[in-house]
Amino acid sequence: MKALVYHGPGEKSWEEVPDPVILKPTDAIVKIDTTTICGTDLHILKGDVPAVTPGRILGHEGVGTITEIGSAVTDLAVGDHVIISCVSACGKCDFCKRGVYSHCRADEGAPGIGWIFGHLIDGTQAEFVRVPFAETSLYRVPEGVADELAVLISDILPTGHEIGVRYGAVSPGDVVAVVGAGPVGLAAMATAGLYGPSRVIAIDTDANRVEQAKRFGATDGVVASDPDWKEQVFALTDGLGVDVAIEAVGIPATWDMSLDVVRPAGHIANVGVHGKPVEFHLEQKWIENITITTGLVNTNTSPMLIKLLAQGKLDVAGFLSHHFALSDIISAYDTFGRAAETKALKVILSA
Ligand code: NAD
Ligand code: ZN
Repeated sequence: MKALVYHGPGEKSWEEVPDPVILKPTDAIVKIDTTTICGTDLHILKGDVPAVTPGRILGHEGVGTITEIGSAVTDLAVGDHVIISCVSACGKCDFCKRGVYSHCRADEGAPGIGWIFGHLIDGTQAEFVRVPFAETSLYRVPEGVADELAVLISDILPTGHEIGVRYGAVSPGDVVAVVGAGPVGLAAMATAGLYGPSRVIAIDTDANRVEQAKRFGATDGVVASDPDWKEQVFALTDGLGVDVAIEAVGIPATWDMSLDVVRPAGHIANVGVHGKPVEFHLEQKWIENITITTGLVNTNTSPMLIKLLAQGKLDVAGFLSHHFALSDIISAYDTFGRAAETKALKVILSA
């Protein structure tokens, strides 16, 4: 088969590799019909994720058709059309039983890390992929849901929803600020609406992204490079700050911004993957009754999100910005890698 292979920082190629095979009775082989590229793939290509070693097939998002199942797989069959979750769950370990699939203890990749595709095992930017723990990590695509929407369930919708909105405990009437209006921040805005906030404020340095955010449920936008950005945010609250600040960038500046705008007794939900330490002045902040949460997506709300998608209750078609043939993935990376110029959000690759 053909696959996108990582060859060390800055190096990748679409090349011939051996077909994946069933290694364990709980595996399935899935033919990829639709896949996409994540900001995390760009991090990997920059060399920011050293656990990804040369020779690894990239990608952790996809929708496809089962072509083979292991002997222990009884709930899924060859021909089933499925969403591949970015997090693999054995369904049996202590963490999986609590719905914390992100820390699945199974001995696949590295025990304790649920995100293994395109990281610790070969991923979905390929013609076929081996899916471990198929029964607990694949979800059937409901009738009538297009592949290009279903693929948003692999990663960004559960990430924005679980680590942003749910961990941030967004509640009716809340004023929510989302710092970072990339696909993940936009997914948080799109799912925040499920909980009845009074305002959702998109904050980004890119004025175009701030404007676009209004198509994803943001009620207001603030351009982060405006010198008075903070006053603008406070003016959208009762003057005391936001109830929930969702950090969806992953740099010290946006962590500081989240702290700057949250009110006492508010929540900061950190979604961004950080590469550098941040400062937190506990000696000043201890008195503010703030709740801070962090995390890797669990994907335990994916079944609920799939249901909403099937009912047309999540308006997420705006995520689909570009379409490519799977074999043209190098061009798709180029377009996605220049998102500021190309206005790319999710680039869809179809086999
Ligand atoms: P992205 O790079 O597409 O979007 C980030 C946005 O932040 C961009 O729109 C950019 O203009 C904006 N930005 C940059 N600097 C800023 C600043 N100083 N102030 C305001 N805005 C600024 O990334 P994405 O794909 O949307 O992902 C967002 C983050 O979520 C990344 O760190 C990613 O690795 C992380 N992520 C986390 C999880 C998880 O499980 N926790 C899962 C997936 C992705
Ligand atoms: Zn991802």
